[in-house]
Amino acid sequence: MGIQMALAGNPNAGKTTLFNDLTGSNQFVGNWPGVTVEKKEGRLKGEDDVRVLDLPGIYSLSPYTLEEVITREALFEEQPDVIINIVDATNIERNLYLTLQLLELDMPMVVALNMMDEVEKEGHHIRLNQLTLELGCPVFPISALRGTGVDDLVKGALLQAQNRQKPVGKRSYPNALEKAIQKVEQTLTSEQERPRWSAIKLLEADPRVLESVTLSDVEQKALHDIRAALERQTDDDAEELIATARYEAIEQIVARSVHRKEETHTLSDRIDAVLTHRVLALPLFVVIMFGIYWLAMVGVGRNATDWANERLFGDGFTVFGAWVPGVPVLVENALTALHAPLWLLRLAVDGIVAGVGAVLGFLPQMFVLFFMLALLESCGYMSRIAFVLDRLFRYFGLSGKSFIPMLIGTGCSVPGIMATRTIESDRDRHVTIMTTSFLPCSAKVGVISMISGALFGGSPAVATSSYFIGMAAVALSGLMLKKTKRFAGDPSPFVMEMPPYRLPLLRNVLRTTWEHVKAFVRKAASIILLSTVIIWFASSFGWVDGTFTMLAEDEISHSLLAGIGSAIAWIFAPLGWRNWQAAVASLSGLVAKENIVSTLAVLNQVSEEGLGEAIAAMMTPLSGFSFLVFNLLCAPCFAAIGAMIGEFRSAHWTLFAVGYQCGFAYAISLMIYQFGSLFMGEVHPLGLAAALLTLGVMIYFIAFKKTPPTHWESNVTPPRMA
Ligand code: GDP
Ligand code: MG
Repeated sequence: MGIQMALAGNPNAGKTTLFNDLTGSNQFVGNWPGVTVEKKEGRLKGEDDVRVLDLPGIYSLSPYTLEEVITREALFEEQPDVIINIVDATNIERNLYLTLQLLELDMPMVVALNMMDEVEKEGHHIRLNQLTLELGCPVFPISALRGTGVDDLVKGALLQAQNRQKPVGKRSYPNALEKAIQKVEQTLTSEQERPRWSAIKLLEADPRVLESVTLSDVEQKALHDIRAALERQTDDDAEELIATARYEAIEQIVARSVHRKEETHTLSDRIDAVLTHRVLALPLFVVIMFGIYWLAMVGVGRNATDWANERLFGDGFTVFGAWVPGVPVLVENALTALHAPLWLLRLAVDGIVAGVGAVLGFLPQMFVLFFMLALLESCGYMSRIAFVLDRLFRYFGLSGKSFIPMLIGTGCSVPGIMATRTIESDRDRHVTIMTTSFLPCSAKVGVISMISGALFGGSPAVATSSYFIGMAAVALSGLMLKKTKRFAGDPSPFVMEMPPYRLPLLRNVLRTTWEHVKAFVRKAASIILLSTVIIWFASSFGWVDGTFTMLAEDEISHSLLAGIGSAIAWIFAPLGWRNWQAAVASLSGLVAKENIVSTLAVLNQVSEEGLGEAIAAMMTPLSGFSFLVFNLLCAPCFAAIGAMIGEFRSAHWTLFAVGYQCGFAYAISLMIYQFGSLFMGEVHPLGLAAALLTLGVMIYFIAFKKTPPTHWESNVTPPRMA
């Protein structure tokens, strides 16, 4: 029989670092069944029958956030043989809040007192024997970063597991409370696995425990009476009473076992004084982000991406003087040599290699971007910036944490949507998933420059306004969605601690980057592959003179896709661009937004250089802008929709989100075109009426509609900081 260890601790306590120390590369990352919080499991280095489970970072065992619920359920269901509670020793007060609750579970446990290198550097002293005595379970000083103390920790944990050694010496609560707990314990006649834990949780009126234990009417009544008596006696709410008792206990433990050197201003404080400065924080942040963005998208990214698109997935390139043909050439040559039929050749080269290649071409940019973001995250800057932005985002019904996915989304919506996992509250996460793709991703940049080049003399104002429209779309949607039943309620309060600045560990940063890149490739490639095949088929086959056949390249106007485009073109008439080419181009944008440009070129039978003239003949600047905005805001590409399915884990939610995005895009483009026309002295009565109605509905939602009662479960209660 193998042994299972579970790592539990606050966010940023060093769980991932320790997990990597323990497992080396023997780890598997997945999702918890049914939810999208990361699940990491691995085998202990050199011990095949010891498994290590990395639980989500939490501050408390209350059932208010997804992470807390998952951790609790995992502890009960998996019944690990020992819990390793990792405690950030530089933040011991806050971390012990979770420790005390874990001890109440009455399962074998050890405390890994992490970051001891920093404690020593700052000259503080922790009396380990005293702390062990106070907690009733072994305490091991470690530095996960340096790897010191980890061997002893493992030995200690294994020993506890083998002996099934539970924490010793129950910690008792203040008198009245303790009596109440014991009374509840005695009242519970039904068999309880963890009587004391259940009693405390029942007193706290923990909704999940109330649900899971079946109480007889007599027990219900007794519980109610005990709680009422306690609350009357102490004049306080039971849950509050218990929390206060825990904080007081922590205060005593720390007073007896931690000896602190006089406070000095640490380097971290000094950096913070600048980076989170009231006035400087935002401009500095903009500069830093711009730098990262430039590096990822232009400095390194663009060259590498151009190389991938034009050489690797183009004609070919030279290595050490030898000419290596590009992938399409290789595939074409191979298939020709095998005498493959023409349709297969075209499917492989124009469909699969072109489609998948276009996505893989973004990999270098993705890599640099993820790397820089992982760097910012692990050095502690991200938590600060999320904090700085929280006030602004909150106003729009989002939380500061929504910012990171949106930032990543400006590179590519797929990882952006995946990054919403860091948002604990379901409500905030759902809004963020729905609105992240409003920001122009790098594939949309091609469409932007096409329109600005063809109709606006290449003015950079078009690109700038695209980003502003994206941001405004997020803000407007936040304001409107807040007023719907589905999204009522405030964003959860901001609980993210400010870790001291730390030098990031290259190994960890690389590992995180790699995990993101891998997930990106897996998700995008599978869905892109499928959808390119479908679109390739729809654009390569059609009826010519009554027979269904594969089309020559200049016959695309006979294709199935063109048929669909013509059938739906009328829908876009109120937006000012009623022609089937534009409709088909928008459809092909569902595969990848870059396709909009190439499809328009193919449909107009011009090269991409000649496209400008063709577009100028098709659209006015106003209708062109409306076309652009529609394509910026409507449903993202299939890969991103696939990511949405993955994150929502619900077809219903995904449909709702895509429907909302398309409807919103339509509404905004309608207003742009109709009000723009009016401004230029041209009135389309019906369209104008529709635009006015749309504007009215939006104003009603934002300014006048009352917020319905909250639908989401109660939000995070932040642990009180000592
Ligand atoms: P998690 O959120 O609990 O998974 O925490 P991480 O493992 O990501 O660690 C958070 C930060 O603390 C990272 O920057 C780590 O490099 C750093 N860190 C982890 N353990 C130690 C340690 O023992 N000493 C120091 N100085 N830093 C550490
Ligand atoms: Mg972690």
